[in-house]
Amino acid sequence: MTEMIDKFHDECGVIGVYAPGKEDIARGVYFGLHSLQHRGQESAGIAVNRGGKISYYKDMGLVQEVFNDEIIGRLQGDMAIGHVRYSTAGESHAVNAMPLVAYYRGGAIALAHNGNLINADTLRCEMQDAGVIFQTGIDSEVIAALIARNIKDNTIEEAIVKSLETVKGAYALVITVGNKLIGVRDPNGIRPLCIGRGEDGSLVLSSESCVFPLLGVELIRDVDAGEMVIIEDGEIKSIQYHKGARKAMCSFEYVYFARPDSRMDGIGVYTARSECGRILAREHPVAADMVISVPDSGNVAAIGYAEESGIPYGEGLIKNRYVGRTFIQPNQRMRELSVKLKLNVLKGNVAGKRIIMVDDSIVRGTTIGKIVKMLKDAGAKEVHIRVASPPVIAPCFFGIDTPNKEKLVASGHTLEEICRMTGADSLGYISVEGMLTAIGAPEGTICTACFTGDYPMKLPEPEVGSGGRAELETDSVDVEKREE
Ligand code: AMP
Repeated sequence: MTEMIDKFHDECGVIGVYAPGKEDIARGVYFGLHSLQHRGQESAGIAVNRGGKISYYKDMGLVQEVFNDEIIGRLQGDMAIGHVRYSTAGESHAVNAMPLVAYYRGGAIALAHNGNLINADTLRCEMQDAGVIFQTGIDSEVIAALIARNIKDNTIEEAIVKSLETVKGAYALVITVGNKLIGVRDPNGIRPLCIGRGEDGSLVLSSESCVFPLLGVELIRDVDAGEMVIIEDGEIKSIQYHKGARKAMCSFEYVYFARPDSRMDGIGVYTARSECGRILAREHPVAADMVISVPDSGNVAAIGYAEESGIPYGEGLIKNRYVGRTFIQPNQRMRELSVKLKLNVLKGNVAGKRIIMVDDSIVRGTTIGKIVKMLKDAGAKEVHIRVASPPVIAPCFFGIDTPNKEKLVASGHTLEEICRMTGADSLGYISVEGMLTAIGAPEGTICTACFTGDYPMKLPEPEVGSGGRAELETDSVDVEKREE
């Protein structure tokens, strides 16, 4: 597998608000970004468009750390876009925060991107050879540069479509340019993007519908795979710029990444997750006294498991909500310590009991073993791990941060080995078929690559000698090395 695409994973959330004449659009985007914070905790940004002039603010940090009243007050416009991002440590620079604002022949364009391209480095090198200078290490700058190059004799819509003909990978894009707010979903529809409408005529594009109630808008529909929507003069125009690709919405959005109160492609995330728990209970029953979850990501599936099995649901672990995701700690030692920082056992609830512990997923396998030990130390008689997604055996190249194959515990170990390594009394994962039944999407429309290795598109061969991100590559390599 190519080292290049192996090292760059961006998890992001995007939002765009169109509400001409309304004040405080930036504040709406700011609130929306709060509801998308789970999609990226590393940087945040907002760009506003007033009559084609774009002003923006972005920085490293959580949404509430990056923005304050004064900054929000300065961002005035008729439409605005916003972005939250999490990347691998090596790419963690303020320069890579989004939205990306670029200036082309006809004016300014602001772009926010969720997803990863798999041919960005090749395109970047080709463009660099032709004299294009890049200022960031992000894939999205390649898209912006392509649009700027294609705009010459084309409308902005035509330039975007032409540019997208050359890029491969996953993208949900929100763009503002001139008097337009534009949303695009890649031909496979890997990353989500939906549209909401308010009674006052405002229109919102968002990675997830959980932002809509806060903004007073209703979910009207999802952007289709291969569709571009252009919001202009209060109307939504649609262009199906690509047809016929295999629909491949990300299954990991349903099982872990998205918020349970979002709907994606017509499917409620809560329902999908709770069904995963129910099916898991049917596929892997075990006699026990109590079902607990690994909070918060395992909560919904654990309740589903308990309902289906008839074994009572209880609290076994208390989460400190003010500690970030254990996953994002820079090295293994910190990740291990941070499990304890984040979770504490409710001794009185678990002591002497046979416990079924439900989690959404096992990736590296670091977290789960620590928790089993904590439960056993607290006196749990048995601990049975039940996982509401199948074994993660292959890295994602399309916008979910999964590590290299070697670090995916299920890629190099049998289930018996993983069970032994975690110290659990038994281990059961939901099957791929079970998960797909739980999600309930039409057959063949879901990407299961991280669980099956069946990618929705051909991955490129290893790329040699990319000049483009040499500096950032080196950073990444250092971080990886320090982990060993
Ligand atoms: P581990 O097996 O130690 O790598 O941790 C897996 C846990 O991290 C899962 O239970 C999820 O709750 C969470 N997780 C899974 N995938 C991701 C991801 N891409 N980014 C952040 N957290 C994740």
